[in-house]
Amino acid sequence: MDKLILYKQGGFEWIPESGTCYTANTIVDRIENGVTYSKADTDIVEVIEGVDAYVRYYKIRFEALEDWVKEIVLSVFPNLFMKLEQGDELKDPNVLYNLSINKMAKEQDKFLRKCTRCGGSGHHSYNQIDGTVCFKCGGVKYILPSKSKMNTKWLESIKNYYK
Ligand SMILES: [Zn+2]
Repeated sequence: MDKLILYKQGGFEWIPESGTCYTANTIVDRIENGVTYSKADTDIVEVIEGVDAYVRYYKIRFEALEDWVKEIVLSVFPNLFMKLEQGDELKDPNVLYNLSINKMAKEQDKFLRKCTRCGGSGHHSYNQIDGTVCFKCGGVKYILPSKSKMNTKWLESIKNYYK
């Protein structure tokens, strides 16, 4: 059975029945002469098991994303939390963000703009690691609009399109 342990200072430990355990329970212990010392957050406040553990763990991971990333993911996948509550196993929040960008890129410049580095070809000069894949758009060909255009109106249009 999946297990999630929550600690007093906000730390947690995820112990799935199968797969990789994930521990994030390091907290600041003290700061001495400008050096930060950390320690483990070990006071257990709650142990959750089963489906509830997965739901809670997923929400913690999602909350850790930057605000604008959360907004984009929830605009492209508006039923995300409904599916989670229904017991669906979802892709990692970071993976969902990449999927959101890929999905929007299929609509060309409806929500995104052509990559300014490769001009929308997905390729640029050769390097040994990525070959010719453009590192700005990761080969997706499109990138996010300028910060000023990523406003509520923009998010609403995405929400309406994918609802
Ligand atoms: Zn590019």
